[in-house]
Amino acid sequence: LKSARAPVGFVWISLLFVASASAHAGLTIVAAENFYGDVARQLGPADARVLDVLSKPDADPHLYEPSPSVARDIARADLVIYNGLNYDPWMTLLLATTRGSPQRRVISAALLLRKGSSADNPHLWYDPATMPLVAGAVSREMQALDPTDPAGYAQRLQRFLAAMRQVDARVAGLRSRYAGQPVAATEPICDYLIAAIGLEAHDRRFQLATMNNTEPSARDIGAFEDELRHARVRALIYNRQATNSAVERLIRIARESNVPVVGVSETEPAGLSYQQWMLSELDALEHALARGGP
Ligand SMILES: [Zn+2]
Repeated sequence: LKSARAPVGFVWISLLFVASASAHAGLTIVAAENFYGDVARQLGPADARVLDVLSKPDADPHLYEPSPSVARDIARADLVIYNGLNYDPWMTLLLATTRGSPQRRVISAALLLRKGSSADNPHLWYDPATMPLVAGAVSREMQALDPTDPAGYAQRLQRFLAAMRQVDARVAGLRSRYAGQPVAATEPICDYLIAAIGLEAHDRRFQLATMNNTEPSARDIGAFEDELRHARVRALIYNRQATNSAVERLIRIARESNVPVVGVSETEPAGLSYQQWMLSELDALEHALARGGP
């Protein structure tokens, strides 16, 4: 039996070698963040290859440094998608220093949205208006590179935009019930979503300090803890990807004070599409808002 198996294994290894050695025929897309990569996967043809750089939901993207393999991927890419607004400064640097193919196209979500001020919050994908715009640009650029099946591109884009209208409907529903209600957040990660729902985010100075990995002042920490202790907010939102002892303490105080705690993430969790991810976070937020009342 053993001798019969050996040739099969040998054939498999040879096939794998041939497959990896031959050039990829379809488009190669590199996305700095996996949610942009997910959109490209949903909109592109089946033979498009999409590589995500930031995809670990347990790492802090603000502290990321790329490996040499990322530079090689970017050099081979037909299309590069990144966030901009200094969220992924390594990508701007790699695009400037790697020689790519002359036909390479680049999409920056920040440029598409005409955001460029250092005061703009970089977590653009939490704005329900962002992904339909990014999707339109991604679909257009992929078609320009690979103009074989316009009907297929149009159909996939329509399907994506229809899914995004579901997200918009959920946001509108929450807005009609909870606009003007106060919430606390440890980081300004889903600011755009909070604003779209019309919630009022407190503790801004503390949030910026956490995002920038600097120390919030004792006064800001005290004010934040006080709000939670007196349950003056309907929920505490924290970033699952960047907790520290100060954030853990706030979560504990919120739980002791019966303020609902909602964890959100910067990076798309494995197994969920962008629209499923947003809907699941809206579910969690709705659950908290329904429960927590100042
Ligand atoms: Zn962040």
